[in-house]
Amino acid sequence: MAELTNDFSWSRSRDNTFQECKRKYFYHYYGAWGGWDAAAAEEVRRLYVLKQLASRQQWAGRAVHDAIEMAFHAFAHGRDIPVEPFIGDVVERMRGEWRSSKAGRYRDNPKTTALFEHEYRVDLKPEAWQALSRNVAQCLRNFFRLPLLAEIRKTEPEHWSIEHWSKVFGFEGTSVWVAPDFGYWTGDGRLVLVDWKTGGAHAEGAAFQLGCYALYANEVLGVEPARVDLVEANLREPVVTPHQWSAARLEEIKEQLRLSVRSMKAYLVDPEANVAMLADFEKTEDLRICRWCNFRAVCRPELSS
Ligand code: SF4
Repeated sequence: MAELTNDFSWSRSRDNTFQECKRKYFYHYYGAWGGWDAAAAEEVRRLYVLKQLASRQQWAGRAVHDAIEMAFHAFAHGRDIPVEPFIGDVVERMRGEWRSSKAGRYRDNPKTTALFEHEYRVDLKPEAWQALSRNVAQCLRNFFRLPLLAEIRKTEPEHWSIEHWSKVFGFEGTSVWVAPDFGYWTGDGRLVLVDWKTGGAHAEGAAFQLGCYALYANEVLGVEPARVDLVEANLREPVVTPHQWSAARLEEIKEQLRLSVRSMKAYLVDPEANVAMLADFEKTEDLRICRWCNFRAVCRPELSS
């Protein structure tokens, strides 16, 4: 098997991490590299384990996304879903994952559920966990009642893009990862790209994210902006918000992406070989970010006591 190399690629979450804290970005994309191997150097393995931690809100969001994906698979095969038993199964699965995380299984199996709250012993009352599972159940209930879902189900399932696509494509020499939540073609030949949201609204972030999906549609599928609709579906409210999309917006997204790639590469000692040095990546001064940072134990252990 060819040896894995840490090649530079761009994603929206990478951009987010880079904006938040340069040191965090280093740990996540460089320091933890290779730590999937249990025999990796101890500090690399530690960073890798920490890298996998999810906050409880991220975990809940993932549970909703996975459940929706499962529901679409069933719909695509002509099956209906009994909503409450389905939600009951999702919550039950989450209980199992919660127990696994609480028991610290992720330290040996980093790909299993690893909750930040467990690693950092955040003292949460049982009601906080219950509120989380209630929120997941509510998001899913809202999903099944969404008029948008009824619209989607009127279209041909063979034209649905169900799995988070997790597609990589080349953009001006950089590999760009996108993972649209859902896409479908309407009867009149329009491509609708949907982003399911389970948390509070961050309109700007969602607009950029959806814009990156549409960039993929343009670059890889050859779908011009005039035939694309972008939709943010906030399942908590629930509210569905269309995002404006046009050739001019596409150019803005490209420019934003170019700028992001340039800024990231400017931090590398060798941009060609994607080589980074820890000392070049400054720590944020905003300790509120550190409080919820996966790498706090390594980076600012004094905050963990
Ligand atoms: S603990 Fe703070 S400074 Fe260190 S990586 Fe995390 S966010 Fe950055």
